[in-house]
Amino acid sequence: MTRVPILMYHSVSERPNDETRPLAVRPSDFADQLGYLRDHGFTPITFGALVTALHEDDGRDLPARPVVLTFDDGYADFHTEALPLLEKAGAPATVFLTTGWLADAGQDAAGRPLDTMLTWSQAAEAASCGVELGGHSHSHPQLDQLSDADLREELRRNKALIEDRLGLPVPTMAYPYGYSSARVRREVARAGYTAACAVANDVASGRDDVFTIPRLTIAKGTTLSTFGRAVHDRAIPLIYLKERLLTKGFAVVRRTRYGLRRVRGHV
Ligand SMILES: [Zn+2]
Repeated sequence: MTRVPILMYHSVSERPNDETRPLAVRPSDFADQLGYLRDHGFTPITFGALVTALHEDDGRDLPARPVVLTFDDGYADFHTEALPLLEKAGAPATVFLTTGWLADAGQDAAGRPLDTMLTWSQAAEAASCGVELGGHSHSHPQLDQLSDADLREELRRNKALIEDRLGLPVPTMAYPYGYSSARVRREVARAGYTAACAVANDVASGRDDVFTIPRLTIAKGTTLSTFGRAVHDRAIPLIYLKERLLTKGFAVVRRTRYGLRRVRGHV
């Protein structure tokens, strides 16, 4: 069975701020990672292209060694740092945009952006260079904590804004914080998305639910040797042991909080 690494990036910056630092990758490290992929025969494709190939065409149209590069949130440094390197490498990529965070969101501004974000024209320029733009909610909330009405609004407003402003279809999205629930996934499908990315830190395959396709976190601490093992699907559970424990711990905390709130609600 075809197994495809989908890499999850955030900021690509030499000088990230305190909030984006843990997940930020230095431009020189990103260049080395693109070089690694080229030297080892990987062919980058967009997330949308992977979904179509894997889930509609049984993987027949996939290149020999596909890899997907995704960037969450829509930081301005995608345009200044990552895009020139991707263009030089001839590598397409996917950016999941939080529309309320965009630098010139204007009256659509919502949520609290963690750093300087892309403008609409920078997003359009990226799209014209072969970058796929996907959804990432409108204001970056924890989707599963929202009421049905707010959840619907977050998903639909995000998708409609990108489609209207850029004149492009937006069939894919990624969950803020990587987290979803059955209710969230149902609403994502109802909003017209055909696939969605989670985090999960595993390699994707045709067996995944199209609304929880796993990705591999690439962050500040990812050395080139770790990167190599991740894209080659070697010892991934070991590489991401810490992240898995943290994610599990986080889920327990969230469940407990939610439980407490529900209990209080009944009092
Ligand atoms: Zn995000």
